[in-house]
Amino acid sequence: MRNEEIERSASDLLHSVGVLKTPIPLHRIATFLKAEIHQQTFEDMVSGVLLIRGDERHIMVNKAHHPNRQRFTIAHELGHLVLHHNSGDRLFIDTHLRAYQRRGSAASGVYEEPGSTTTPAEEKEANQFASALLMPRELLLSKTVGREFWDELDVAALAAEFGVSEQAMTIRLRQLDVLDSIF
Ligand SMILES: [Zn+2]
Repeated sequence: MRNEEIERSASDLLHSVGVLKTPIPLHRIATFLKAEIHQQTFEDMVSGVLLIRGDERHIMVNKAHHPNRQRFTIAHELGHLVLHHNSGDRLFIDTHLRAYQRRGSAASGVYEEPGSTTTPAEEKEANQFASALLMPRELLLSKTVGREFWDELDVAALAAEFGVSEQAMTIRLRQLDVLDSIF
């Protein structure tokens, strides 16, 4: 699946729910998709789980993780739901989900997880979807237009506004060619 398709999929969803504002309200998107979000106790290595059983859709997120990381995990699971669920019952388990794994240039091996129920390609797509959902291109660009010089405080402020980690924001800004690779 091409990045453009994933961007459009996330953008269409945001417009359908009518939530193009910061921080993106993930619970409203989940409700729109008839999914329930549960904060749960997991081993540290588990970030999140998506369980689809009949008409039920449950997203379980590790409540011990930083709120920004929980948001990324929830958005990632929503990505699996939107992009990878066609029909039938399915279980997605995500471990060691990190923002840096979202880099398009990363070797696919980065996405390999022993016992994972998804393919490395699906993991990459879910991460790209999460990035596009949490940091919508049009919304982010509207806040960065005209700014030529960046420092870490600028990125930190944007990250806080969007409810994402500074690392995730840096990657997204680079992907959108707002930050050059020197930063
Ligand atoms: Zn996943």
